[in-house]
Amino acid sequence: MRILCDEMLNGIAQWLRVAGYDTTVPTPGLPDDQLMNRARAEGRWLVTADSDLLGFSEAADYVIYLQGGDDEARLRELTQRLDLDWCRAPFTRCKNCNALLHEASDWEVAHYYPGSIRLDGQSVWACSSCCQLFWEGSHVRRMRAQLEAMNRWR
Ligand SMILES: [Zn+2]
Repeated sequence: MRILCDEMLNGIAQWLRVAGYDTTVPTPGLPDDQLMNRARAEGRWLVTADSDLLGFSEAADYVIYLQGGDDEARLRELTQRLDLDWCRAPFTRCKNCNALLHEASDWEVAHYYPGSIRLDGQSVWACSSCCQLFWEGSHVRRMRAQLEAMNRWR
């Protein structure tokens, strides 16, 4: 399953990536017709909070309009609409840029690691696109707990 989130839903896009779903966000200001074309061309669900997109004749085929007022309400609705499994493949994609993560090499850790926390043999993953590193620290543990909580909405 591939997803395109409109620019208003960046927080939702990040959670989808954390769970391992291939999720892109268009550059801000992309006109609606181009947004529709891109979703169709790439075979993506177009997840949006913009009801104007429902006016396109083919909207029923691949547009998912979320009415919820905040991210949590929208994440709940999306979980049910797409039958999302938040624990499907967590931490396999970069939450910032959607590229796949790989196990970081010693070179990557040495060059990209901010260095304020000791890693002590923990698993470290690197993004091959934006060079962000992720490791099993308290932030990742909190996100795992959140993913498990979201799976209870299924
Ligand atoms: Zn990245």
